[in-house]
Amino acid sequence: MIVDLRSDTVTKPSKEMLDAMFHAEVGDDVFGEDPTVANLESYTATLFGMEAGLFCPSGTMTNQIAIKAQTQPLDEIICDKLSHIYNYETGGWAFHSGVSIRLTDGERGIMTLEQVKKSILPDFDWYPNSKMVCVENTVNKGGGAVYDIEQLKLLSDFCKESNLVFHLDGARIFNALSATGNSPSDLSGLFDSISVCISKGLGAPVGSVLLGSATMIKKARKIRKVMGGGMRQSGFLASACLFALHNNVERLKEDHQRAQRLSDSLGKCKWVKNVLPVETNIVIIEVDDAALYTQKLAENGIKCSPFSPIHIRFVTHLDFNDAMLEFALEKFKSIN
Ligand SMILES: *Cc1c(COP(=O)(O)O)cnc(C)c1O
Repeated sequence: MIVDLRSDTVTKPSKEMLDAMFHAEVGDDVFGEDPTVANLESYTATLFGMEAGLFCPSGTMTNQIAIKAQTQPLDEIICDKLSHIYNYETGGWAFHSGVSIRLTDGERGIMTLEQVKKSILPDFDWYPNSKMVCVENTVNKGGGAVYDIEQLKLLSDFCKESNLVFHLDGARIFNALSATGNSPSDLSGLFDSISVCISKGLGAPVGSVLLGSATMIKKARKIRKVMGGGMRQSGFLASACLFALHNNVERLKEDHQRAQRLSDSLGKCKWVKNVLPVETNIVIIEVDDAALYTQKLAENGIKCSPFSPIHIRFVTHLDFNDAMLEFALEKFKSIN
């Protein structure tokens, strides 16, 4: 048996999802004629209480479009040092938008109001304009850490008072909502823009949706086009996303339970120095040598990701079942 815990992006469409894709009604979406894409965009927007949505090929694109559409050169965006926007999007904020970035030093990637306040610069010629605050929920590099909704409200209120754009990188927002017991509509009114990934734990092969005001999304459509992200009969992909939103949200709690079991078991292994707290579907452990233990795990049929020279990440997902969990728990014990 091979168990792949490298990422929740490794899932493959189920027979039922493929069936939904096969029967999708499609049209040319660059002409605005794909009914399934339109349906996905409005369905997702309504779910989160936002005005409009835009279907994109990746979460990197939805984040980068959000930055481009809501900033101009000489502006600065504020992110945590662990954020995906800062670490894993090829420096796109500079490349696409010509903005600078300021980093907060959050605990497991969670920004506090104090940290955000301290990041705002006075209006001097020699400073960029503080323009946009980006939170990530859950925080990938923070081991799937989750924001409390009250914390998001505090940050949102501050952004409103201070004329700052407030963006949510919600690549795993459904994991966060599942963990806190909130519904997507509880986020309504908090953000200017939200990026939602459907190709992570929800199991669609491709696709993220950017949400925002109708005006912002109109601008975002043009930016998507210039980035080369205008797609034609993309309803085939959008139907997989709709299928995922309808069928794979409730079950995320199973992923969280399995992650907890992995964590409990890893915590008992001598070769594991530390296990970061587990709140959702991500487990990060500390070892002496991440490359060495990633290889040992691979030799035992468990694929995982080295996350730093001493950290390894495991992510549970739709295609990781109980039999695989039991297999992994046995293997962990045999490693030394
Ligand atoms: C995966 C991910 C994204 C987007 O990634 P793509 O691979 O471009 O879809 C954005 N933010 C976070 C936190 C992620 O984990």
